[in-house]
Amino acid sequence: MGLKGKRGLAVLVALVVIFGAIFGTALAFYSEGYLSGVVDDSKTPDKTQAGEVLGEWEEYYGGELNTLLAQRFLGIESSYFRGLKENKVAYLTFDDGPSSNTPEILEVLERYGVKATFFVNGWNKKNYKEMYRMIYEKGHVLGNHTYSHRYDLIYSSVENFMADLKKQEEMIYEATGIRPRIIRFPGGSDNLVSIRYGGADIMKKIAERLKKEGYIYVDWNASAGDALKPPPSREQMMDYVRLTTKGKNPVVLLMHDMNSKRETLEILPWIIEYLRNEGYEFGVIDENIENIDKINRV
Ligand SMILES: [Zn+2]
Repeated sequence: MGLKGKRGLAVLVALVVIFGAIFGTALAFYSEGYLSGVVDDSKTPDKTQAGEVLGEWEEYYGGELNTLLAQRFLGIESSYFRGLKENKVAYLTFDDGPSSNTPEILEVLERYGVKATFFVNGWNKKNYKEMYRMIYEKGHVLGNHTYSHRYDLIYSSVENFMADLKKQEEMIYEATGIRPRIIRFPGGSDNLVSIRYGGADIMKKIAERLKKEGYIYVDWNASAGDALKPPPSREQMMDYVRLTTKGKNPVVLLMHDMNSKRETLEILPWIIEYLRNEGYEFGVIDENIENIDKINRV
């Protein structure tokens, strides 16, 4: 290397050092909140503040490197940060309840501070009022899963479906004073059994009617596999959860609240912990749900 080369290298090193010093100081000031004014330096950033700071930061500088730097300097833990940035949401849904397992399901959810959505039926349900009320009062959402859950009846015509739905709605209303707008079709919106009773486009017709009357139906995009036959083992159910939730946002996880499904209750703590570790926060399905077209099949 000649003299000129050496001088060039020295200049380059000097530039890097000077730039690094300026950038580092600015970053230190920024991380303390002096420049942005967003962070009060007497406090550690909470979720909202961190989100705001990061939002500003990315707006000005962009890119993965700065995200990483902001992450490091703001002291935000990476898995928490990932969840925050991607805003990953999982909706736990229980169909066909209430059942003898409902009180214990509610206990597990309470222990973990998680709210869920229960798509309930009315036919042959003892203590239904008490059970609906218990679900509702613990802060969960009640959805309508029709009164009878009988495919031959509800899918024979739009009128029959609506009558069965409204019967269920009345029962929930009696118990809680609310009329759920959220619905889940027995078998899902793309079930093929309905064709046998109401023709090829019965689901489309019912879906149109529901929309017209202001109802929102919700399918699922993940499952614990607890309705499969023969019944899967707990390990297989865990595999289903891992496999069907992978890479999805939001996750709408189908489970069943039925007397015979003890395993679902038994692996519920694992399901919650697994999804939390994957960076998901838990939400309930209500009128404000977004991206439902991503989930629904019809
Ligand atoms: Zn069902």
